[in-house]
Amino acid sequence: MASYVAAIDQGTTSTRTMIFDHSGQVVASDQREHKQIFPKAGWVEHDAEEIWANTRATAAGALAGADLTAGDIAAVGITNQRETTLVWDRRTGKPVYNAIVWQDTRTDRIIGELGALGGGQERYRDRTGLPLATYFSGPKIKWILDNVEGVRERAENGDLLFGNMDTWVLWNMTGGVDGGIHVTDPTNASRTLLMDLDTLSWDESIAADMGIPMSMLPEIRSSSETYGTTRERGALGGVPIAGILGDQQAATFGQACLSVGEAKNTYGTGNFVLLNTGTDKVMSQNGLLTTVCYKIGSKDTVYALEGSIAVTGSLVQWLRDNLKMISSAAEIEEHARTVEDNGGAYIVPAFSGLFAPYWRSDARGAVVGLTRYVNKGHLCRAVLEATGFQTREVIDAMNADSGVPLKTLKVDGGMVVNDLLMQFQADILGVSVIRPKVNETTALGAAYAAGLAVGFWESEDDIRSNWAEDRRWEPSMDESRREREYRNWKKAVTRTFDWVE
Ligand code: ADP
Repeated sequence: MASYVAAIDQGTTSTRTMIFDHSGQVVASDQREHKQIFPKAGWVEHDAEEIWANTRATAAGALAGADLTAGDIAAVGITNQRETTLVWDRRTGKPVYNAIVWQDTRTDRIIGELGALGGGQERYRDRTGLPLATYFSGPKIKWILDNVEGVRERAENGDLLFGNMDTWVLWNMTGGVDGGIHVTDPTNASRTLLMDLDTLSWDESIAADMGIPMSMLPEIRSSSETYGTTRERGALGGVPIAGILGDQQAATFGQACLSVGEAKNTYGTGNFVLLNTGTDKVMSQNGLLTTVCYKIGSKDTVYALEGSIAVTGSLVQWLRDNLKMISSAAEIEEHARTVEDNGGAYIVPAFSGLFAPYWRSDARGAVVGLTRYVNKGHLCRAVLEATGFQTREVIDAMNADSGVPLKTLKVDGGMVVNDLLMQFQADILGVSVIRPKVNETTALGAAYAAGLAVGFWESEDDIRSNWAEDRRWEPSMDESRREREYRNWKKAVTRTFDWVE
């Protein structure tokens, strides 16, 4: 019996392959970054062929690193940056355009036009759980069909396929032009603005609004079942592919947030808080998304409320790469520790407009509260605090929607090594913040979905018992300071509105 499960984590900045053992420990890992392509302000693209090459390379690298072969792997799961949109030719396997990344705001006009058909931003909320926003895939497909020459005709002839990165990777792994399987799961499909949340099927009338031929759309299967087998080429040949979860849902699964009321926050390029609402589909009154959390085989669909924040870790990258104020992400904490507080400065990183709970594509970033007193330490602190404040806003919205205040928050992702940020997070939320021993929850969640499907893990109880606490932060800020800081933040946010007509 194979002793391991592999996960491919196709993320926004890199692609990883990780191999886990039965106790959920990482046995091997390999990672490659891909280019971030910024053709214009507000546009973000990825080269999908580079991503597929990196996927193969990291699969080989991870296996070689642990001295394993495909025969040691019971199943492979896929997790991916969600919403990022690709259209390719089913006969040649070539993309017709770069992948349009979730942060990209080029569909601004399309969003306005769709809203003007009636219903405005809420036009598809009842059916999809989502507001109309540039974030989601459907309007990005429309942009490609409207703007890349000859593509609409090819799509209408049935020659083109749409997929998020899960679908692209899986289609290639299962043979590509030579019999590749064109499928996705409900967590990814629920981010397109095209899927009905009750039936987990594509909504033809929304696709018609956007002029998207149904023949382009992948089949929606569950998040945990055997979709196919990797072809005998590349390192993972002959292994069943048995799990797909969008990255944030995968992290929720990997964090063992498997009961109603459990929530996690992942601190990566952006931040994403997901609250498990069980088989109830809770419609937000406070700017959150309703989304599929996971669907395990033929079991009932589990839903989540989600607070998506576009820019958190990427603000740290911006400080490093664009302003050159720090030379590594880790260095920000040293500078932030040279001062006691933010010195009155607040940075609102509305680089892609504002996502939850505002959903304003007209917003752009602002630094406010500047005086001669403010120095580099204060700005570094303000950058970290921006992540903490944005999280507080979505947790407030979640508490209002669910009526049950959150008592603890499980955290993971690249920024949770930052002790100052984690303490500030506990302070500004007034709840305990808990980090698990295995911080690679996204890949782990995809591995769990695949391993459950093939019987490598028996039940969700195995996942619960593998989860273990590493560290926790308790709130220590006094109430009046907490609320004063938060009021200032909210005021700063209003300064970002109405920048783009
Ligand atoms: P993703 O999966 O979205 O690509 P990761 O979970 O790998 O992201 O997290 C990377 C992010 O974490 C980057 O945006 C980086 O700026 C940020 N980051 C990494 N280390 C630190 C640190 N010590 N302090 C603050 N931010 C950090």
